[in-house]
Amino acid sequence: MTFKILWLQAGSCGGCTMAALTAEDRGLIAALRAFGVEILWHPALSVETGREAVKILEDITSGKVELDALCVEGSAMRGPGGTGKFQMLSGTGRSMADWIRELSGFARYVVAVGTCSAFGGLPMAGGNVTDACGLQYEGDSEGGLLGRDFKSKGGLPVINIAGCAPHPDWITETLGLLATVRLSADQLDTFARPRFFADHLAHHGCSRNEYYEFKASATQFSHLGCLMENLGCKATQAAGDCNLRSWNGSMGSCPDAGFPCVACTSPGFETPSDAFQETAKRAGIPIGLPVDMPKAWFIALAALSKSATPERVNSNAQSDHVVIPPVRDEDDT
Ligand code: SF4
Ligand code: SF4
Repeated sequence: MTFKILWLQAGSCGGCTMAALTAEDRGLIAALRAFGVEILWHPALSVETGREAVKILEDITSGKVELDALCVEGSAMRGPGGTGKFQMLSGTGRSMADWIRELSGFARYVVAVGTCSAFGGLPMAGGNVTDACGLQYEGDSEGGLLGRDFKSKGGLPVINIAGCAPHPDWITETLGLLATVRLSADQLDTFARPRFFADHLAHHGCSRNEYYEFKASATQFSHLGCLMENLGCKATQAAGDCNLRSWNGSMGSCPDAGFPCVACTSPGFETPSDAFQETAKRAGIPIGLPVDMPKAWFIALAALSKSATPERVNSNAQSDHVVIPPVRDEDDT
């Protein structure tokens, strides 16, 4: 018995598929096969096209083929005027939104791959002229294309593998858990994101943590310091174990690459109050403070940390290389 998935691309840049293709050293297909996952059809990976592809969808809606998981990448485009005609599924005369609605009723599980599909994501930014939304969310409000009460045949809401793009392991592990019947409702967080990655903060494990602790901050890209105080890093508020598991087979995360976390796993990340690479502040204090930290504590701790910052940490924070190495006590060795 295989666990059959169908993957559709709605309003998407294709980045989630690109991310999935970097899964593990053995590659996406082998990683999925290890869990018994079979891809019935994927628009970029399957050979079937045109009529042959449509037949696969029709075999599901006629009940001829059972569908274990419908995976949708990209936002649902509901416009114009609720018709969904901004995105038609070629050769069917029907909108993608219409197909997603119907196929969701046949799937044991519905999986939103990426923040666009989960919450609306980048296509919702600005004026949202396409009336884009997520499968079960519109930003942080429940609803979306399928409605807040939707549950798939397996009894779960839409499972949101948030991320723009999500880590490939989040995709393969979620599908693996579903295929082995090990993902239950209590393993989803309040936004229906699998908790195995959403119970972490993206900040956990960042290589800049020593700078964070001392509030020794970068003032420009390429600096080694923490990116939170000046350059907009939101990792202390964002769900994800991005700094605990490597990307691209070795070290690698947004802050590791010198880029602030934009909280891409959060609903509404696409419309920040200020520019992505600037820290919004009020009276000199960042507006977005670490979760679980009352403002007064943060101010007190930051002042204390800054007063105790070693010169080494201060200098290195605003340099693109280590200018003062740690001086070790000889007894240390
Ligand atoms: S750069 Fe971001 S993720 Fe890294 S320590 Fe600073 S706040 Fe945390
Ligand atoms: S570090 Fe932040 S922006 Fe980067 S993938 Fe993780 S949550 Fe998204």
